[in-house]
Amino acid sequence: MARRFIIIDVYECNGCGSCVEVCPEVFAMDETGEKAYLLDSEAEITEKVEEAAAYCAQKCIEFE
Ligand code: SF4
Repeated sequence: MARRFIIIDVYECNGCGSCVEVCPEVFAMDETGEKAYLLDSEAEITEKVEEAAAYCAQKCIEFE
């Protein structure tokens, strides 16, 4: 099976920060504090990452 990667749709991201709260190993807020980004673009899709995606109100954390 092809490896899947985490993607954040930064256009949709509203900077709520809940992904960072759920999974600070993978997600962080950028210096403006308005958009989330990935600490490691090749981070594994762990259960916590899936949980962060589920909690994202904007549904802008995707797996591709
Ligand atoms: S949970 Fe979603 S909307 Fe909130 S900061 Fe993270 S990516 Fe952005």
